[in-house]
Amino acid sequence: MKDYIIVGAGLSGTCLAYRLEKSGRSFVVFDDGSQEASKVAGGFMNPVILKRFTLAWKADEHLEAAYAFYSDMERHLEKQFLSPLEVYRRFSSVEEQNNWFAAADKPRLAPFLDTKLVPQVNDHVPGRFSFGRVLKTSRIDPRYLLDSYAEHLEEKGWFKNDSFEYDELQVSASGVSYKGIDAKNVIFCEGFGLQKNPFFNYLPLRGNKGEYIIIKAPKLDLEVGVKSSIFIFPAGGDHYAVGATYSNTDKTPEPTTEAREELVEKLKDLLDVEFEVVDQVAGLRPSTIDRRPLVGRHPEHEHLYTCNGFGSRGILIAPSISKELVDFVETGKSLDPETDISRFTKKWFKKSQGFAFPGS
Ligand SMILES: Cc1cc2nc3c(=O)[nH]c(=O)nc-3n(C[C@H](O)[C@H](O)[C@H](O)COP(=O)(O)OP(=O)(O)OC[C@H]3O[C@@H](n4cnc5c(N)ncnc54)[C@H](O)[C@@H]3O)c2cc1C
Repeated sequence: MKDYIIVGAGLSGTCLAYRLEKSGRSFVVFDDGSQEASKVAGGFMNPVILKRFTLAWKADEHLEAAYAFYSDMERHLEKQFLSPLEVYRRFSSVEEQNNWFAAADKPRLAPFLDTKLVPQVNDHVPGRFSFGRVLKTSRIDPRYLLDSYAEHLEEKGWFKNDSFEYDELQVSASGVSYKGIDAKNVIFCEGFGLQKNPFFNYLPLRGNKGEYIIIKAPKLDLEVGVKSSIFIFPAGGDHYAVGATYSNTDKTPEPTTEAREELVEKLKDLLDVEFEVVDQVAGLRPSTIDRRPLVGRHPEHEHLYTCNGFGSRGILIAPSISKELVDFVETGKSLDPETDISRFTKKWFKKSQGFAFPGS
């Protein structure tokens, strides 16, 4: 009898599995590679929304937890996937510069916005106005992290490179059974793949497609990340990643010509150096209607859980949110009402079951 079956080894499933491993729980993880959001993510741990200069949801708390969590994972796996990355915002007007200073006056943003602006960050990134530095930023290499942990689990025999077939799951009052594996609980972490999950697909997961291009620019020599209408950061050697796009309408997994053209056009506005597009990646962010995660227990099946809805901030929030769910299952500690899926039980679950509301 295992303690858990985890479905999905993106950031959500990986962070959960690592927490459970550290607390001595037994589990098996299934992943079929059908979603790519975590692997193609930029990997930034940036607490500030750089469009509006506001703090992302609870970002100060999440940042501290994420840094400690990934550092601990690095030590455990003896791999390095976390590195500091300086990030600058290029201003396009005096008004934006003023907004930066106004934001830097706010107590929760002050630790993250440098008020000493710099006139230039690189010879080939021209700017009519200054650049503002976001402090305390770092980056993880998500693909390397996920592959390293999957390899570690494979060595222990705790990883199955396989699709989880929902109709093979048997749920009883005491636990679950799946193709000969008995477990106390299942945690579903399929990202946008949750849409195919008959137990949880009542949840309002929207999905938002994001794409990056990888360029080669031998003369650029940029060592920091720069955000204007797009973001560019070093990706090793003379390669750089440029993105990301946001689309609420296209739910296909493949890279598109439209996104490549959009990014190339914006990049021409940012750089005055030659570049060549050498690769392109795409993924579906598991975004939700209220921009909060989807965490908790199924309304009817007490051994089924989900940990999803990380939207565009999975790197930053997965360590804290996985802890919240593990504490909830293991110790009964209440979930944050903002993340608890019970906020959708009445309207979304009951409606999906054909429940007729009085007066409706
Ligand atoms: C282009 C792009 C850039 C981004 N950049 C950043 C960033 O810089 N910083 C940041 O914080 N966030 C970023 N994000 C957001 C972040 O990637 C997501 O929030 C996060 O990856 C979601 O993780 P997840 O584990 O919930 O989902 P996913 O990454 O989608 O993982 C789900 C996993 O479940 C598996 N799966 C699904 N169904 C099944 C099944 N039936 N059986 C077995 N396995 C299954 C899939 O193969 C997949 O591995 C970015 C996203 C995109 C698309």
